[in-house]
Amino acid sequence: ASMPVITIDGPSGSGKGTVCRLLAQKLGWDVLDSGAIYRVLALAALHHQIALDNEEALVPLAANLDVQFSFDTQSESSKIILEGEEVTHGIRNEEVGAAASKVAALPRVREALLRRQRAFRGDAGLIADGRDMGTVVFPEANVKIFLTASAEERAERRFKELKAKGLDVTLSGLLIDIKARDERDTNRAVAPLIPAEDAVSLDTTELDAEQVFAKVMSIIDQAV
Ligand code: C5P
Repeated sequence: ASMPVITIDGPSGSGKGTVCRLLAQKLGWDVLDSGAIYRVLALAALHHQIALDNEEALVPLAANLDVQFSFDTQSESSKIILEGEEVTHGIRNEEVGAAASKVAALPRVREALLRRQRAFRGDAGLIADGRDMGTVVFPEANVKIFLTASAEERAERRFKELKAKGLDVTLSGLLIDIKARDERDTNRAVAPLIPAEDAVSLDTTELDAEQVFAKVMSIIDQAV
């Protein structure tokens, strides 16, 4: 029998990443960070000077993407190697995030990445983090959670996170980026950002990471 899957979907800044990491630690499961796959693809497109709307060229790039995700015990996070070069941190900026949401809007690109995402299901359970984990990639998941938070709160979280990394960003700029990304992710024709019919939604606007984790654990406990 296949190992269990818990899907955590929602917009950027809704708290998915943190809760997925905490859940994986608690349960001893693997994590699929599907956003990272779209980010890596976007970065590869930028490197190869392939236009972000050139579906014809992006599909084979996606299908043959030379990327490895490995767990780095020292930093307790996954290390990402693209075409032999470490891109773990290089994919975590707004430019790559915006580029990712452009390539992610192309139906055949998403299709080309399906198998790679499903292959993350291994010998342990899987926590799948993304936008369409519960609707498209793992429709048979055991538990589906959809996290939301106001755009202002998400911009604020992103601002703190990027400032802490020493990046030069403004709150108003991030809010504009987040709204543009939401708009693109929600209104695209394929795999738009919407909760699965059987997902439990949780608004995290007023919650800190620990509270989100506690609520998600209780949703999981009730479901199994
Ligand atoms: O989650 P993250 O911000 O890293 O994702 C980057 C972009 O990749 C998102 O804005 C979205 O457009 C796209 N994405 C997606 N489907 C997923 C995960 C991410 O379309 N499952």
